[in-house]
Amino acid sequence: MARHVLLTTLTSKDHVVVVGAGLAGWRLVEALRRDGFAGAITLIGDELHAPYDRPPLSKNVLVGKWGPERTTLATPEHIERSDVTLRLGVAATQLDVANTTVHLSDDTAVEGTFVVVATGSRARHLGYSADPLLHTIRSRDDLVALEVALSGLGKGSAIAVIGGGFIGAEAATALRTRGFEPIVLEVASRPLLGALGAEVSFWLEGLATEAGVELRTSQRIVDVKFAEDSFAVSFDDDVDLVVRAVVVGAGAVPNVEWLATSGLEIDNGVVVDESLLATDRVAAIGDVASFSWRNVFGTERVRIEHWQVANDHAAHLAHVLVTGEELSSPMIPYFWSDQYGKKIQMLGHPRGSDHAQIVSGSVAQGKWTALYSRDGVLSGVVSLSQPRALMLTKVLLEERTTLEDALHRAPWSE
Ligand SMILES: Cc1cc2nc3c(=O)[nH]c(=O)nc-3n(C[C@H](O)[C@H](O)[C@H](O)COP(=O)(O)OP(=O)(O)OC[C@H]3O[C@@H](n4cnc5c(N)ncnc54)[C@H](O)[C@@H]3O)c2cc1C
Repeated sequence: MARHVLLTTLTSKDHVVVVGAGLAGWRLVEALRRDGFAGAITLIGDELHAPYDRPPLSKNVLVGKWGPERTTLATPEHIERSDVTLRLGVAATQLDVANTTVHLSDDTAVEGTFVVVATGSRARHLGYSADPLLHTIRSRDDLVALEVALSGLGKGSAIAVIGGGFIGAEAATALRTRGFEPIVLEVASRPLLGALGAEVSFWLEGLATEAGVELRTSQRIVDVKFAEDSFAVSFDDDVDLVVRAVVVGAGAVPNVEWLATSGLEIDNGVVVDESLLATDRVAAIGDVASFSWRNVFGTERVRIEHWQVANDHAAHLAHVLVTGEELSSPMIPYFWSDQYGKKIQMLGHPRGSDHAQIVSGSVAQGKWTALYSRDGVLSGVVSLSQPRALMLTKVLLEERTTLEDALHRAPWSE
């Protein structure tokens, strides 16, 4: 896409309106202040909670080790120190780009001089008959609702987890730890096939079973119905699975509907350039941003739902707005997932079709590091419970590195 040019960098007369009080929105507030922005900031969020962290929801919170309040990112002291006006429990309904004005669900409006869209994504619903009674794991309130449902179930109760991706696997792990019997229902022939590609999903295939979790692949669910105190999951082969609760981990969709009349380009998220700008006065960051990502293969438009990317976007945008300059270091996406007693970590944003080969450890050892390559050039690194090897390999992704050169340098073995 065409690059937008900031007309001026922010001054103390500016008013930045950030829509979405999640990770990216809050990190932006912090970064703007850190970089010296002295103007007004308003942070608008439709949830009632102050900004909080989502990754623990499907891990420590669901396991029961953490109460939901422990995920809080913005304590009252942080909020006061950041000198930010928080508008919580109110949704943005419309954006007037020309006047940098955000209209809200309580019929008020906030006029700023710069608007940042940080409305994230929401859990995808699959439209089954029992949809309102099925659980997703996206927000703190989702966890509270799930907890209420679980509290009525005895140990050993069967719970269907629809989707064997990252959230589904983490949910199944936590439910198993608590003594329930999760049954993971995955539509693909292997979990994480689309996300991590054929080789890597093959190496990870055994994790669920080794952790005592039942995983069923190639499951074509037709509907989920509720009757009395159970859910009946029906499949295209007509056999029903009866469970006491259902958790759906079927991916997420960007929260862009409120921008329908804004005139901004929307294409699987808010389309922004390398500086994260949609216009010279509107930007988008985090899960909702469909951004131009420059990497060793060129520039491609991506939308990446990773915790680290939301942080990096916030730091990058604040730097651009305050200094007028880009951050010089390339962005290397990072992701982790704790599932079935193992840690999966990934650097880069490889495609499912990229070739992967293990360079350290082995599947039998339950620990390994693998390189992804495309046309003989490194495109990513993924590891299973080898965090040090993964981080040592990051240096190879900071510039164009051939697979041959990577194998020769082998930083993972240091
Ligand atoms: C359960 C879970 C586990 C995760 N685990 C990992 C992990 O292990 N590793 C990893 O890398 N990533 C993980 N992630 C992803 C990571 O949390 C997200 O990438 C990150 O939260 C994105 O931040 P964000 O601010 O863009 O969006 P969000 O965190 O979704 O925040 C957006 C906020 O905007 C609000 N909003 C939406 N629409 C409006 C509106 N119209 N008006 C006002 N407010 C609005 C939303 O309610 C939300 O509060 C996980 C996500 C979840 C849900």
